[in-house]
Order: sequence, then structure tokens, then C-alpha cells
Amino acid sequence: MQFRDPELFRQQAFIDGQWRDAHSGEVTAVVNPANGQRLGSVPKMGAEETREAIDAANRALPAWRDLTAKARATVLRRWFDLMMENQEDLARLMTLEQGKPLAEARGEISYAASFIEWFAEEGKRIYGDTIPGHQADKRLIVIKQPIGVTAAITPWNFPSAMITRKAGPALAAGCTMVLKPASQTPYSALALAHLAQRAGIPDGVFNVVTGSAGAIGDELTHNPIVRKLSFTGSTEIGRLLMAQCAKDIKKVSLELGGNAPFIVFDDADLDSAVEGALASKFRNAGQTCVCANRLYVQDGVYDRFAEKLQQAVAKLQLGDGLQPGVTTGPLIDEKAVAKVQEHIADALEKGAQVVAGGHAHALGGNFFQPTILVNVPANARVAKEETFGPLAPLFRFHDEAEVIALANDTEFGLAAYFYARDLSRVFRVGEALEYGIVGINTGIISNEVAPFGGIKASGLGREGSKYGIEDYLEIKYMCIGL
Ligand code: ADP
Repeated sequence: MQFRDPELFRQQAFIDGQWRDAHSGEVTAVVNPANGQRLGSVPKMGAEETREAIDAANRALPAWRDLTAKARATVLRRWFDLMMENQEDLARLMTLEQGKPLAEARGEISYAASFIEWFAEEGKRIYGDTIPGHQADKRLIVIKQPIGVTAAITPWNFPSAMITRKAGPALAAGCTMVLKPASQTPYSALALAHLAQRAGIPDGVFNVVTGSAGAIGDELTHNPIVRKLSFTGSTEIGRLLMAQCAKDIKKVSLELGGNAPFIVFDDADLDSAVEGALASKFRNAGQTCVCANRLYVQDGVYDRFAEKLQQAVAKLQLGDGLQPGVTTGPLIDEKAVAKVQEHIADALEKGAQVVAGGHAHALGGNFFQPTILVNVPANARVAKEETFGPLAPLFRFHDEAEVIALANDTEFGLAAYFYARDLSRVFRVGEALEYGIVGINTGIISNEVAPFGGIKASGLGREGSKYGIEDYLEIKYMCIGL
């Protein structure tokens, strides 16, 4: 592995400004999903080391909280600058451990860094209120204060951005943080910690604990010092963590699963819809929580859309993400491949047909062919469950009311997309979709300036935008008698 700055490749956890091994000396291996080769290892830590990280975050809290927002912003801005200066190394590291093509990894680094930049600025605008008193001799003032020590647990699909979306607002608000990154992708997190230290973020303000998800998660959710948990991952684990947080009534932010509908109406610009579907469905090999999971296409354009999508998908180049020209990497592991295969088999059994892909790719390992299914029936499993892989199932629909009912018939409510040109329809459908995010005539909706988050079983809270920092603040109302 060649990096311009070899210091970025860290195989130890980061607690209280120190690079640390597990007390037990145990490690877990990290592998490259493109070829199964071992990249290295990270310490297998548990409850004890997590407690030490929480204590460090608690010790660091008063001094960090008491800095001015501008002083914190200056340090965070340096962190942002260092991320951008090291974009190439960080992107390579990400491709090695996660599998996404290098161009996508570069994109994620700048996307990840943008949250640090944005929240550094936003921290300066944590305004309160003065409220006209309810009595003549009272003055009412509202201030906002950092919640305190926070915990974050992040997934492997966006190894960098899912961290900065939490650490950016937390640190800008004056909170400190203990992070547990996904076991598959710890190196991106540890590289961020290295840059945080170089940027001047004080010891204990940002800690990264690697190891056993269950043991670390248990300590993070049961330790009374931690006042808030922010989690991105599956609904199943989110539900568990929320229940664990219930004991202390810890605040929780949850970014969970989705089951995004992608609707193409008869009046859509078809080329643009195909481009959007390709980006939304096949980016990161279909492994994003806002990926189109079900494509609903209206009768009048169904066949043409299917054909155009087929042509577009045929151009995708699978391979090791470090190779030039590769557009699509491997899936993260065998379990992910199995899920795609199950969804395909189920749909075929219920009457769907394959028009592209459908099988494991000749490259072997975790590579799976980008797949399109047509005439998928409404009772297919893929209509209800998130595939998290490169499978585009095309459902047919007749009218607007029908497709809105189908789109909303899910426990999830993260992202939805639709393509239409009729202005009244744009508003009607946009308002009727029960989702936290609606992409209209676009397949890409994530950025640091907009609120990202879901409703229903897709989660609680918002990340990014002016709303994202609220998740790390408490409101205090002071009633002053004259
Ligand atoms: P995915 O299917 O995307 O891997 P998970 O919800 O399983 O989603 O994982 C997301 C994050 O949650 C990862 O960092 C993982 O290690 C962590 N995690 C998994 N199980 C637990 C648990 N029982 N307690 C705490 N964290 C967990």
C-alpha cells in the first residue's frame, strides 16, 4: 500500500490523544473486499477501553465547551483543510477497505470534509431567543448549550462521511465524542483521527474505539456519562440501541434503513430519469441507504425506460476500485451478495424476468453483475425489503394515486425519487410521499447544506444543514425576575 503520508494508515485505536492497543492484545483483521486480501488489523477492544475513552471525552469536555465557537471553528477548519490536502491518500485507503471506485472515494472525501467546514461555520450561529415576558417583572431568555459527551456508531458504506456528519456538528457545538466505526472500515476513521490531532483538536475531544460492536455499543449506551448516541446503520441494530439508551433517557439520532421508491411518470424526461436511476441505484454498487430500491415506471414509458436503462447499465465497468475506468466495485461481503441473490430468486419465482445481469460476476468473490428485472410483481420481497446491492427491479403502474399508495406502503421513510414535468403533479406527489427526503428530477440528493434524515422506521433527527447542529444542543430557558 503506497501513501504519500504513511502516517495516515493507523492500525491502533485513538483514545485521549494516544494510539492504543487492546488490553487483551487481541486484534481483528481488516480485508480488502475486492480480493479478500488482508490489509492489516485493528485492536479488538471492549467495554473497558470504551469506558476509558468516555472518561477522556468527559475530562476534555469543559475546556472544549468553553472555547468560543470561533476558536473551535478555527481548529475544525484546519481539520477540513487537512482532509482536502490528503484527499488522495484518504480516498485510496477507503477504496482498499470498502471497495468503492477511487473516483467515488475521492468524492466521498470532499463530501465528508464539507460537513466539517459547514458545521465549523454553523457553530457560530447557535442563536438563542428572548421571549416577551408573561409578567411585567419577568424576562425570559433561551440559550442553547452542547449536550455533552456524545457517542457515534457508524457503518461501512460511507466510511468517512458518516463520521464527519456526526463529529462535525458535535464538535462545533462544543460536545466531545467517542466513535465506534464499522469493523469492515476502521482505517478511514483512524486516518480522520490522525488528521484531527494534527489540526489541533485537543486530546479526548474525538476518540475512536475499534473492536467488538456488542461490547462497545453496550458501554456507550449504558454509561451515564454519555448523553447522546448518534447511529447510522440497520433498523434492527438501531432499534436495539434505542432500547438500550432508554434506561438513561439518552438522546438518540438514528439514520436507519430505507426502501426508496423511484417513480418515472409518463411525462418524465426519460434520458434524465435513466441517468438519475443509474446514479441512485448503482452508486456504491447499490449500497447506500438512499439507493433506489423499487423502480415504478408508468405504462406509457415502461418499455422504453427499461431498454434505455439496460443500455446504460451495460456500460458499467466492474472491477477493483483502484483500476482506472472502473465504475462499480465489489459488494462488502458474501452476506451482501447472498441477499441480492435471494431477492432475484424470489422475484423470478413470482414471475419477473431478468433483462440484465442476474448472476455473480466472472471476477468472482464479492462481485455481482448489475441486474435489471422487469415485470416484478407487487408481492416480491424486494418491494418490502432493502436489497443494498446492484439490483434494479422495475414495477409497472397505471396512475398517480396507485403509485403513491405503493410508494408509501412500507415501514420506511428515508428517501424517495420521482421524475415528472407537470408542475401540479410535482407538488402533489412531492407532498404526498411519506419520506424525509424527496428527489424530484434528480437521483442525487445528499449534500452538507440540506437536512438528511428519515421518518417512520428510517430514523430520528437530521444531519447536515442548519438543522443538523440542533441534534447536539440542549435548550435552556432562563426566567429572570426583576
Ligand atoms: P450494516 O448492515 O450496515 O452492517 P449494522 O447496523 O449491522 O449495519 O452496522 C452498523 C454499525 O453498527 C457498525 O459499526 C456495526 O459494527 C455496529 N453494530 C452492529 N451490531 C451492534 C450492536 N449490537 N451494538 C452496537 N453496535 C453494533
